[in-house]
Amino acid sequence: MENLIHQLREGRLKKHAMEEGRGLVFGTHRSPAAECAPFDIAKLTEQYQVGQKVSGQPYRYLIRTYGCQMNEHDTEVMAGMLQTMGYEPASDVESADFILFNTCAVRENAEDKVFGEIGRLRPLKQRNPELVLGLCGCMAQEKGVQKLVQDKFPWVDLVFGTHNLHRLPQLLTEARQSQETVLEVWDYAPQTMENLPKVRAQGTRAWVNIQYGCNKFCTYCIVPYTRGAERSRLPEDILDEIRNLIADGYRDITLLGQNVNDYGVDLGNMTFAQLLRQVNSLEGIDRIRFTTSNPWNFTQELIDAIAESEHVVEHIHLPVQSGNNRILKRMNRSHTREAYLHLVQRIRDKIPGVSLTTDIIVGFPGETEEEFQDTLKLVEEVRFDNAFTFIYSARENTPAATFEDTVTLAEKKARLKRLNDMQYSISREKQEQYVGQELDVLVEGPSKTNPDVLAGRTRKNQLVLFAGTSALVGQHVKVRVTEPQTWLLKGEIVSHRGEESA
Ligand code: SAM
Ligand code: SF4
Repeated sequence: MENLIHQLREGRLKKHAMEEGRGLVFGTHRSPAAECAPFDIAKLTEQYQVGQKVSGQPYRYLIRTYGCQMNEHDTEVMAGMLQTMGYEPASDVESADFILFNTCAVRENAEDKVFGEIGRLRPLKQRNPELVLGLCGCMAQEKGVQKLVQDKFPWVDLVFGTHNLHRLPQLLTEARQSQETVLEVWDYAPQTMENLPKVRAQGTRAWVNIQYGCNKFCTYCIVPYTRGAERSRLPEDILDEIRNLIADGYRDITLLGQNVNDYGVDLGNMTFAQLLRQVNSLEGIDRIRFTTSNPWNFTQELIDAIAESEHVVEHIHLPVQSGNNRILKRMNRSHTREAYLHLVQRIRDKIPGVSLTTDIIVGFPGETEEEFQDTLKLVEEVRFDNAFTFIYSARENTPAATFEDTVTLAEKKARLKRLNDMQYSISREKQEQYVGQELDVLVEGPSKTNPDVLAGRTRKNQLVLFAGTSALVGQHVKVRVTEPQTWLLKGEIVSHRGEESA
């Protein structure tokens, strides 16, 4: 298979950095600002209406989403386009006329799940010849996946990638008329698209993309290949979108990007810290979150902006990946263990009580027992509030996939368990410190398991359950913690009050 890594790196090197004489540092190079194009909703509304079925029923769609918040948000955009075309949501696969898999390629098991599902849907396709099956997202960017669909899953009608998601209406219309699989995957994003229609989840929380792509090229990670180079949206577009969200009643806004602290580097006249301050000063803004930040470029300017912006919450997700310098270097992470610990100290000095969460990979190729123990020691030292932990999964065409891997799967699983056991007990201890405390909770809605119980979040993103009426949804309440658990806090409502730091 063609080596996308070389293709991408060389392409970007020649075009942007080398020609401008800026030189290049591996993994930290910059691409120029992406051009921004408005999306034509009027054209979409006129040209790609789906109409009704002969039975008079509407056409219905179902999107199965895998992976990160970015994918969840892409699904909101695609749902927006589909509903503008006249599609309505389906409650299950049987009643859907269009089933779309919005996929993740970060780890192999996500891919296995998707193909398992597509296999199971084949009989449905035989029963309903009008049914259109589609695959998009990060997996669709992989040449190997495109070939697999063509060779083994020809009943998939439509494949498109992350860079041409806005072409869904045209492509779906084509797929409905075609006997063959319609496949359109762009290798890069020529523009960032604005004004895309969105159907957001109801509630208090909303995601806002501030940046697409990633320039870091961590050796294990497929994201720079599936999502392309970093592109920042213009601040005025981001601020406009947030103003509209505030007007629509959303209270808790998460700014999304693979390296949010790199926001604006390509624009040249804006930093993420400046953007945060601008969002913070919007009329009516309540809570501001952001994810994911990278330890490498987490500046003092950014720490100060978080500390000084009252609406920016005291929660930072700061993926460390490993506690060992040799492994970090082989991962092409741009931080060392010491730099990470120093950063944590600087953050804690300036933002007392800040909640820190992280991502950790165990069993990276060649990771020794001692090197893994460095990760355990780092976890013990930092005492994260929570950690997302993963067994290393080799991704085709990434550099680490060629590294010799001597660690057995059984050993990797055992390391994951040791790490999780340690983290769970730290998380539990941290949660127990909240007994008796009164926390500021933004009420999100009824709990998933009991309609008489409300669920809400603290500024630090802790899930809190307590008895209350649905009239409180969207409001801030004070809840006294009575029963802390590892993943949630149970409590009783004390009063309805304005926002105070939890
Ligand atoms: N941009 C974010 C960062 O660098 O912190 C992370 C984005 S990535 C989609 C989410 C997490 O998946 C990573 O932080 C990493 O822990 C994990 N991950 C990525 N590639 C992986 C792989 N090949 N095997 C196992 N875990 C992986
Ligand atoms: Fe980029 Fe994060 Fe993947 Fe590293 S782990 S390449 S920073 S998306």
